[in-house]
This record gives sequence, C-alpha cells and structure tokens, in this order.
Amino acid sequence: MSAPREIVVATGNPHKVEEIRSILGPLGLVVRSLDEVGGPFAEPDETGRNFEANARIKAVAYARLTGRTVLADDSGLEVDALGGEPGVDSAIWAGADGTRAERDARNNAKLAERMRGVSSERRAARFVCCMCLADSEGRVLAETRGTFEGRIGEVPRGSHGFGYDPWLWLDDAGCSSAELPPDQKNARSHRGHAARAMAEAIRRLG
Ligand code: IMP
Repeated sequence: MSAPREIVVATGNPHKVEEIRSILGPLGLVVRSLDEVGGPFAEPDETGRNFEANARIKAVAYARLTGRTVLADDSGLEVDALGGEPGVDSAIWAGADGTRAERDARNNAKLAERMRGVSSERRAARFVCCMCLADSEGRVLAETRGTFEGRIGEVPRGSHGFGYDPWLWLDDAGCSSAELPPDQKNARSHRGHAARAMAEAIRRLG
C-alpha cells in the first residue's frame, strides 16, 4: 500500500482543515477540504458507539462519495465521574437545536450541573480525538487516537477555543484549555496528537 499524495479532510470546519494541513503539509501531502472537491455530499449518520467507529463511518462514506482518499475525525469529552459522558454525544449532549454557540453554552451548563458536588480527586477528564484514513474505495488505511488529559475545573475559565475548553483544567499549566493561546493548545491537544500520529502512519505507508 503506497502513501497517498492528496487527502480530503471530511469536515466543514475550516479551522480543522488548517490545523491538519499544518501537520500533514510538511510531509508533501496536498490537504483539501470537502468544499474544494465538489459536493454537497450527503452526511452519513454517526451511529457509532465510540469515537473510533464514528471516524471510520465518516472516512469510509466520504471516500466512497468523493472517490478520493479521505481523512475523518471524531472527537469529544470523556468525564470519568460521569461514566465517560458526554462521549460521542459531546456536540449535542444538551440538545441538537440552535447555533454551535448556543449548544456549547447549554452543554457547559449541563456539565456544571452534573459535576456539582463531585470531589476534586474524582474530576479527571479528557478530550479524545480519533482519526481514520480511507482510500478512494473506502478501505481503511490507518487509524489513530489522541488524548488531552485534564480535570473538570470548579468554574469555567478563559475565552479561547470552543466547546468545553473553559472547563478542562490543566494542572501542569495552571490554567484551563480555554486560557491556552491557540498555538499552545494545538501543540498538546487531542487533535494535534492524533494528526501527528496520522502523519507517522502515512509516512510508514511508504
Ligand atoms: P467535533 O469532532 O468537532 O464534532 O466535536 C465534537 C464536540 O466535542 C464539540 O462540539 C465539542 O463540544 C467537543 N470538543 C471536541 N474537541 C474539543 C476541544 O478541543 N475543545 C472543546 N471541546 C471540544
């Protein structure tokens, strides 16, 4: 199996395309967004029970739809004291209506509510990102996983980032994920780790 020269990133989020391009571009790979290769494409149902399964569903579906090599990711927050919730439901944990900002605000209010009274030793949590690369016929070429460990803070802090960032407290940095400047977040984030592991996996494909 030889390494692809061009990949399509299956996301509508231009920030993710840029972040992935900055990691895979130096390998000599041309990284394109879905918009650049036509469409609109029918969105597959994310029926997987974990991040790996959903990343695979998206990579395989968009590879078949576009006839190209596709990289897809799925990510979210896992909180140990909540049995791993919100997990694959992270984006829509408190409901699917409204704008992304409204959903984030509702999700964060739900997290505050569910974590009320949980002791500091039981607040471990992490962001997880799984990536899957599928070839133009929908065969899986590589799968990677990255995590970003922290714990749920007592109060939300910071205004960078998105989603649950204000709640993920990083003991070593002494700040929340939303207080890290974007380049520092990218350097240690779940998505950064998964993308760098994918770069290594692609290099090994030859
Ligand atoms: P998606 O992979 O962009 O669909 O992300 C799923 C959901 O997980 C987002 O809507 C956020 O709620 C959460 N999430 C994923 N990555 C991050 C992150 O880096 N910071 C904060 N929240 C995140």
